[in-house]
Amino acid sequence: MSQSAAHDWNPKYSWQLIERTAPPKRPAEERVRDFREIYTEYDEATAMDQASRCIVCPIPSCRQACPLGNRIPEWLALTAEGKFLEAAAVSRSTSNLPEICSRVCPQERLCEGSCILNGRSDPVSIGAVERFINEYAFRHGALEVLPSPFNGHRVAVIGAGPGGIACADELAQLGYGVTVFEALPLPGGLLVNGIPSFKLEKRVVARRIEFLKQRGVEFRTGVKVGWDISLAELRKDHDAVFLGHGAQQSKALDVPGAELSGIVAALPFLVQKNVENHGQPIPEIEVAGKRVVVLGGGDTAMDCLRTALRSGALQATCLYRRDLANMPGSRKEYYNALEEGATFQFLTNPVAIEGNERGEVARVRCVRMELGAPDASGRRKPQVVRGSEFTVDAELVLVAYGFDPVPFPSGSDFAQVKTNDWGGIVVDANQMTSVPGIFAGGDSSRGPSLVVHAVRDGRRAAAGIHGFLTKV
Ligand SMILES: Cc1cc2nc3c(=O)[nH]c(=O)nc-3n(C[C@H](O)[C@H](O)[C@H](O)COP(=O)(O)OP(=O)(O)OC[C@H]3O[C@@H](n4cnc5c(N)ncnc54)[C@H](O)[C@@H]3O)c2cc1C
Ligand code: SF4
Repeated sequence: MSQSAAHDWNPKYSWQLIERTAPPKRPAEERVRDFREIYTEYDEATAMDQASRCIVCPIPSCRQACPLGNRIPEWLALTAEGKFLEAAAVSRSTSNLPEICSRVCPQERLCEGSCILNGRSDPVSIGAVERFINEYAFRHGALEVLPSPFNGHRVAVIGAGPGGIACADELAQLGYGVTVFEALPLPGGLLVNGIPSFKLEKRVVARRIEFLKQRGVEFRTGVKVGWDISLAELRKDHDAVFLGHGAQQSKALDVPGAELSGIVAALPFLVQKNVENHGQPIPEIEVAGKRVVVLGGGDTAMDCLRTALRSGALQATCLYRRDLANMPGSRKEYYNALEEGATFQFLTNPVAIEGNERGEVARVRCVRMELGAPDASGRRKPQVVRGSEFTVDAELVLVAYGFDPVPFPSGSDFAQVKTNDWGGIVVDANQMTSVPGIFAGGDSSRGPSLVVHAVRDGRRAAAGIHGFLTKV
């Protein structure tokens, strides 16, 4: 029932009258033939109805569960009244990339997972409303783009991913002269060179980068900091540095046969199939007609399955050593992958890759697993089921086992920045590293994580840099 049709409509109870409407999604058989985004937007009436389902809790658990502390009930209430531009302005007050987080956040684990309506009904569609109001604001030219007056300080931001973008955006608004140094030709980090277009179209990221440029942020692409330019050189022209260079070194497959042809790391595969003019030297990876096996259970694995299907794979099978309940990948993307034809073998671990006489992958030798007692991280530890060996035929194996930060070259003056045992940069509560004036955040300091976490770190680092440079 729509809000306008409910006679004695009361905002506290509209969730009993109005069902959650999932964001509109293109049918699987249509979307698997292209790389365009699979979700479309609410219309105005649906956005108002869906926003009106919020009961405006006095202590909103959705806000507490959002890493940015987004003022969700406030912008939902404004949306319910049709005040879309006001709602978007509130949304932008805590987020530099609301149109992007709304598309890629695993809402079921964050804001929507904490909505009080869970259990009694379905949660408020927070992500879809966030997307609607922010796209509405872009369409109506409602974003402030004028550069702020220069405050006399310059900051270098390393990496044009979501962490770097958020930090640069915050600092530019405070009047800092910001230069973003990016190793690749295309700015955007994993938003462009990782996350496929069917989750986030490149034009959405390009629009945001253009917006930053209008705010006065300078982008210098094709500059690999630590290789092409030293920390000392950067510090000559900049009063502070933010390291937002991510963690993009693929974890290796460590089983017999890992050297066979047809075993490919996830990231180069996703870049080659998803990014036009990526400018990276990646040999052609043939997919059409092949049986593709994806190893891993995170977002990257889901993206590989769905990209393989769009690239003409005969079948795409995920092998993951834990069960669905313990799989790190977003549930939303798991169900999207299933709808598109991917298959999953849970509690399954590869022990060897077997090849044919030409040294090409032919099958993956696997064992079944069972979950034992929780390990130090609290997750139940997978153990091999004895005598359970079997094989899965495959002509292409994609390895999606996660990433580590790429270390700076030995002898580089970046080596003075303290790292932990897995190479992550150590930071304090203000995101400052062991070297005063050098800040870090996003995947480079926390390891592979989420876009929304990188945005949070970038914002926190900008506040830390501002405090550092203005302290008396
Ligand atoms: C395939 C895939 C799918 C994902 N899906 C999701 C998802 O659905 N939802 C979600 O929330 N998160 C997802 N993530 C995680 C998310 O993309 C990252 O957590 C996030 O992008 C990290 O942001 P960042 O700014 O720290 O680093 P990045 O996005 O990695 O950006 C770092 C940038 O720094 C540049 N750089 C590196 N070294 C240098 C150097 N020496 N000099 C100059 N520039 C340098 C890199 O080229 C890159 O552009 C996914 C990740 C992957 C790999
Ligand atoms: S940023 Fe993510 S967690 Fe926060 S409100 Fe938006 S979708 Fe939810």
